[in-house]
Amino acid sequence: MSQTYNTKAIVLKRDSFREADNFLTLYTQNLGKIRVRVKAAKKPYSKLSGHTEPFCQTNFMLAKSRTVDIVCNAQTLKSFSCLKKDLTKISAAYYVCEIVDLLTKEALSNEKIYNLLESTLGLIESASSALEVKLIIRYFEFRLLAVLGFKPAIDHCPTCQNEDRKEAFFSSQEGGLLCKNCLPRDPLALKITENIVDILRSFQNREVLGRKVSNKELHQLEIILGSYINHYAEKEVKSRGFLKQIEICEATNSY
Ligand SMILES: [Zn+2]
Repeated sequence: MSQTYNTKAIVLKRDSFREADNFLTLYTQNLGKIRVRVKAAKKPYSKLSGHTEPFCQTNFMLAKSRTVDIVCNAQTLKSFSCLKKDLTKISAAYYVCEIVDLLTKEALSNEKIYNLLESTLGLIESASSALEVKLIIRYFEFRLLAVLGFKPAIDHCPTCQNEDRKEAFFSSQEGGLLCKNCLPRDPLALKITENIVDILRSFQNREVLGRKVSNKELHQLEIILGSYINHYAEKEVKSRGFLKQIEICEATNSY
């Protein structure tokens, strides 16, 4: 009989495999990102299907295999079911899972990423507005970059260490907020307001909510953090386009 082991994980992605099976990409609490196979998941009698949906936090029992480990049993701990009733929240959760998948390597354990993922899904689920969901996503991006060791320099210029933040320019290339003197190093750096600097500082201090942020500021945060992530990611984030589609739909419906 094959060796089995247990792990707690959040389902990042579920892919169809052959006629009846699924592949899951999991972010586990103690093993980092892994891929596993659910045999006969698509058969009507499958007991595992409901426990292996995207974003579910599940206790897995896995059997070792020479290739991809097999799911023997799965028990949902949190299904984030309220999140699944709202299209904006669903797309946000997909995006969060996709970013984790994109920026992490397999089998590299990092419990901080697991905890961040779990808390972010919880925050998205309990968010009271689309604006709040957007702010949570920006917070998540910043924190994930920090956990991965790519935190943008906020308190001082990454080039000359100048701490004057009155005029700051966000540079993905230079790794944070450049001062005016260092601007020639990256002509593409984007001028940002003092309030944006304060928001980034609050993200740094693990404060996500309770701050007034305008739509315009959220948009600027999306641009600077998105460009920063793209700078470090090898491929484009597909969900970003999906989120845009949702926003367009919402804007269209509001008229
Ligand atoms: Zn400088």
